This record gives sequence, C-alpha cells and structure tokens, in this order.
Amino acid sequence: SIVVTGATGHLGRHVVEQLLEKVPAEGITAVVRDKAKAAHLAERGVKLAVADYSAPETFDGLFAAGDKVLLISGSEVDKDRPAQHQVVIDAAKAAGVALLAYTSAPGALSAALADDHRATEKALLASGLPYSLLRNGWYHENYTENLAPVLEHNAVVAAAGEGRVSSAARADYAAAAVAVLTGEGHENTTYELGGDEAWSFAEYAAELSRQTGKEIGYSPVPAETLIGILTGAGLPEPFAAILAGVDTSIEKGELVVSSGDLSRLAGRPTTPLSEAIAAALKD
Ligand code: NDP
Repeated sequence: SIVVTGATGHLGRHVVEQLLEKVPAEGITAVVRDKAKAAHLAERGVKLAVADYSAPETFDGLFAAGDKVLLISGSEVDKDRPAQHQVVIDAAKAAGVALLAYTSAPGALSAALADDHRATEKALLASGLPYSLLRNGWYHENYTENLAPVLEHNAVVAAAGEGRVSSAARADYAAAAVAVLTGEGHENTTYELGGDEAWSFAEYAAELSRQTGKEIGYSPVPAETLIGILTGAGLPEPFAAILAGVDTSIEKGELVVSSGDLSRLAGRPTTPLSEAIAAALKD
C-alpha cells in the first residue's frame, strides 16, 4: 500500500488527490488524526488509519512490509517534532516498509525552523530504512494566503533584503512526492525541491501591483523591526522570531533551489508565482 500521513493537511490533501489519479483508491491509506476530516477520502475508497505522532501505540501495526510511506512533517512547532517523527520511523522500521519518504527542508537552510528537519533526516538515515528526503522549498501559499495586510497597507514588508526565493505551489511538491511514491528507483535519494524561478520581494510587489492595479511597494526592514511588526499584529514572539529567521536565511540565499529536481520529478514546469497570486486574488 501507499501510506500518507498528514493526509488531511494542505499538502497531504494534494498528495492523496494526485495519487488517486495514478493508483486505485484501495491501494492508498490515509493516516489521519480525525476521521471526520477525511470522510471525503473514505467515500472515494481510500483506506483510513487513525494515528497521532504523539501516541506511539496508535502506529502499532499500522504499516505493513513493502508499504511505501510518505511522512509529512508535523505542524506542532511547540512540540518535540523529532520525537514525533521518530515514532513513525520506528513503526516503519518494525514493519519493514519498502520506502519512507519525508518532507524535509532545503539542505542550505540554516534558520531555526530547519533544526527539526535535520534531526529527522538523521534519524531516518540511522534507521537503515530505504529513504527519500524530499527537501521541500517554500510554498507560494506562505505568501499568497496572507495577502490581507499587504493589500491593506499597499506594502510587502520583509526582512529579506534583496534575497530571492524559489517557491512553488503545494500542488507541485505533492506531484514530486507522488512521483517518488509511485515510481521506481527512489530508494536512498535526496531531492532539493524548489520552483523553477526564484523571485525577489521587489518583484513580488511589482507583480501584485500589476495584478491589482494598485501601487504596492517592497519595504525591506531589519529582522528586529519585522519581529516588532508581527508581535504587534498579535503573533507570539517565538513564532515571529522564527519567521524573521527565515527572512534572514532568504537574504543569504538559502531558499534559492537551483537543482531542477522539482520540475524533473513532477514532469512539468512548476507553477509560476503569478498564477498563485491570481488564484489568491480571485478568492
Ligand atoms: P498543514 O498544517 O496543513 O498540515 C499538517 C499535517 O500534519 C496535518 O494533516 C496534521 O493533521 C498533521 N499533524 C500535525 N501534528 C500531527 C500529529 N501529532 N499526529 C499526526 N498528524 C499530525 O501543513 P501543510 O500541509 O501545508 O505542510 C505540511 C508540513 O510541511 C507542515 O506540517 C510543516 O511541517 C511543513 N511546512 C512547510 C512549509 C513550506 O513552505 N515548505 C510551510 C509550512 C509548513 P490534522 O489534519 O489532523 O491537523
């Protein structure tokens, strides 16, 4: 079976949707925390397994020998995510799965956010399981799903200087994961995944201006200023600091991915940022 954790999350939904185009529904198992959130999948014949990364016993017997598993990294940043992911790795190891693919972060990313991913990669390699590291770059949606303050102030504010980002749509990263889960020869691979075109925040602001007809500029600010703005808008300080740390990494070029792995695995060019902006403005 092909097993996908985090199947009711934003990325997981795209993965299951695209898997359904390639393999019979009964060959797919969606691992979810809340069955009600996955009713649409059960209706289409996808098998459901209920489990929580924080409850090791819920993974007992969940995997079978020969399964190909996608571990989508958890989103509870206040928890010990490496320990949570270790639960899945241990269960996969006990079952003898054929492949454990993990949604990681770009290898060059030094921001604090990457620590959990590096720790999980290390644990996965230490397990001796056949692995595939899907080092996902940034999502377009990190930006395009947060346009309200940008449109309110006519300004893109970031602490990224002239740095560039090779972002891509979640659907693009899902396509790469599906290629790895359904294809051959992906054992013990590391893919650096990012969009075909890297953009700067000035270019992002210019594209927003073009599509809205408003004059939207880019205001580069120091990291400390960004933390102040974000906490002022109600974000908890630790989370604001994490986001500012990402911008510092962007300024250093750590979120530029030029491997071409994503479009190669997906078998098509990645979604342009302009398309994601257009989709977000339509909503
Ligand atoms: P979501 O927050 O939409 O999805 C996270 C998924 O993880 C959900 O399905 C959630 O389950 C599941 N999950 C979280 N904690 C647990 C747990 N304890 N046990 C079992 N399942 C759990 O994020 P996305 O789908 O957008 O992104 C996937 C992951 O990628 C994120 O979790 C995060 O690690 C990372 N990420 C990457 C970004 C990037 O730009 N590359 C940006 C943001 C996050 P449930 O549906 O029940 O809530």
